Amino acid sequence: MLTNAPKGTKDILPDQIYKWQYVEERFRKICRNYGFREIRTPMFEHTELFLRGVGDTTDIVQKEMYTFEDHAGRSITLKPEGTSPVVRSFVEQKTFADVQPTKEYYIIPCFRYEKPQSGRLREFHQVGLEIFGTPDMLADCDVIAIGHDFLDEMGVKDVELHINSVGCPQCRARYRKALQDFLRPHYDELCDTCKDRFERNPMRILDCKSPEDQAIVADAPLMLDYLCDDCRKAFEEVKDGLDAMGIEYKVDPKIVRGLDYYTKTAFEFVSNKIGAQGTVCGGGRYDNLVEEIGGPAVPGVGFGLGIERLLLLMEANGAEIPLPEPTKVFVAFMGDRAKSLGQKILHELHLADISAQMDLNARNLKGQLKYASRLGTRYTVVIGDDEIDRGVVQLKDMDAHEQNEVAIDEIVEELKKRA
Ligand code: ATP
Ligand code: MG
Repeated sequence: MLTNAPKGTKDILPDQIYKWQYVEERFRKICRNYGFREIRTPMFEHTELFLRGVGDTTDIVQKEMYTFEDHAGRSITLKPEGTSPVVRSFVEQKTFADVQPTKEYYIIPCFRYEKPQSGRLREFHQVGLEIFGTPDMLADCDVIAIGHDFLDEMGVKDVELHINSVGCPQCRARYRKALQDFLRPHYDELCDTCKDRFERNPMRILDCKSPEDQAIVADAPLMLDYLCDDCRKAFEEVKDGLDAMGIEYKVDPKIVRGLDYYTKTAFEFVSNKIGAQGTVCGGGRYDNLVEEIGGPAVPGVGFGLGIERLLLLMEANGAEIPLPEPTKVFVAFMGDRAKSLGQKILHELHLADISAQMDLNARNLKGQLKYASRLGTRYTVVIGDDEIDRGVVQLKDMDAHEQNEVAIDEIVEELKKRA
């Protein structure tokens, strides 16, 4: 127990971290290009926020949350997703009073008590973003375009963009009734979860993973056929916008985000390359969420994209991730005088912003050079007693297979020139 990470969690080790940093840096860059700024919200929130913000009929709230009481008896939950905390901040900080829209992105760990498997963890990570303060479908198109551009830049070629409209509370009420009428004769055949969903949230049944339920809903009425004029027009605008940008999509009338405050646009980026956990990114519009959480009636739209699933997809696509730069300089020494001089040179290199290391494990010279080649450093400075007496050090360039003598007080300048 003591030396096992908790089930469903993973160390991200130093030899893998460059992949994470690459993904995060590129996401930051794209978001900045689209005019988004980063927001960092706490790792935990009042449980109530997620009951409202995610919705108490969802799997997340019903069985996946990490909830505990703190020492003062408050109910606290580790964030299972990124949108609710950002909405909470938007309301609390009165960001809605600033010039709109508000465009914010985040990179966060999320916590959900799920059955761990490939692409499904209990602690996982998301990049995500939100636009608040505009009902214009241009915003929905922007959000989808970022997801598309980002996945494309990450070298993920086989994902499909699926889009749908989940309507608004007005047209959805009509649809909900039609769907229940259709499902009622099959009620007894539904899985237990879906029996429960029948009254509370029948649209979620469309999303059920059980093959029996999938067969039942195959001919179910579709939300798209029940959209009111406003929602239908909005959906056309999203499609027109994606066409204008040359972004391909499939209309998938079965995508449901399932919550009352999701409205109009719903979308997913899906791959069949990484097995059952094929949805790498999910998002949509939520025109009633800010109000639901206690703010003014301000619309929003956003997405969340799982980093672990993205990395699996990148691997499956053979995407190339640039390897991190190795340390530039290794300082090797023989003897105590050389060691002191080595420390001095090493520190001066660091002050000159040049990456450099020296041996910390009392290796002999041969061992030090072997270690340097393992690190992949291009330059090695070799310091010995008789060199010190002559006021010089040896400078080896491993790439050019060259070695020359450099005066002690010129070595840092020389490496500055070369590095
Ligand atoms: P799924 O249907 O696979 O459970 P979801 O609908 O619960 O996904 P969202 O809440 O939309 O997922 O989260 C957005 C993204 O976060 C997902 O598309 C996925 O990439 C990632 N994600 C969600 N849950 C997990 C998890 N347990 N482990 C790893 N990544 C996850
Ligand atoms: Mg889930």
